Amino acid sequence: MPDCPICGKPLEPPTVKCANCGAELHRACAKRTMGKVYCKKCFREGKKQTRYERMAQRDAWGGNKPGEMW
Ligand SMILES: [Zn+2]
Ligand SMILES: [Zn+2]
Repeated sequence: MPDCPICGKPLEPPTVKCANCGAELHRACAKRTMGKVYCKKCFREGKKQTRYERMAQRDAWGGNKPGEMW
């Protein structure tokens, strides 16, 4: 059984899978956002990426307010 990449303890249910890299981690260790769960690393990466995407999408959205902030 692999260890949780976040806390380093053996994985035991309830576990979730990172929506980005597929890493298994404790539900309590996962970061939840936009209805998906991410590991710490991907959450940080996703934050960066989302910021860029928001900037790129701002025109396409026609000035709509961005959704829920991080
Ligand atoms: Zn954990
Ligand atoms: Zn991940």
